[in-house]
Amino acid sequence: MIETLEFEQIKACPDIREVRKLYRQNYFFIKGKFEPRPLKPLDKDIAKAIKKRKEKEDIYESLPKIDCGACGAPTCLTFAEDVVKGEAELIDCVFNLPQKFTELSEEFSDLLKKPAFLSKTKSGVKKKRKKEK
Ligand code: SF4
Repeated sequence: MIETLEFEQIKACPDIREVRKLYRQNYFFIKGKFEPRPLKPLDKDIAKAIKKRKEKEDIYESLPKIDCGACGAPTCLTFAEDVVKGEAELIDCVFNLPQKFTELSEEFSDLLKKPAFLSKTKSGVKKKRKKEK
């Protein structure tokens, strides 16, 4: 409420009297009734929708369920739905990042061990040339 605004908020407002006037005129109140948007099914095909629902539940079970919103979804459940719909990836959950970094570093480490990769790098070419001499 305007009367309980903190000092900093009042200071930031250019003309508190104008805001009070608008408040008394119910300017900040929303008139009318809110109607919920109709729910979209996960798929038009009912069999696929059922399968996707199961996937959504499995994904949700793997999430931390703390609804932090860091992924951009308001809750972990909506995030799981976004993943199933293809609108997000599991990696978008910040809590999956450390695991993904570990997997990527292991993949990169394995890649470095492959001879084909070494021969394409500068050091690999040098080693090959030294052997030819
Ligand atoms: S970032 Fe992860 S934990 Fe946070 S709301 Fe999104 S899915 Fe849930």
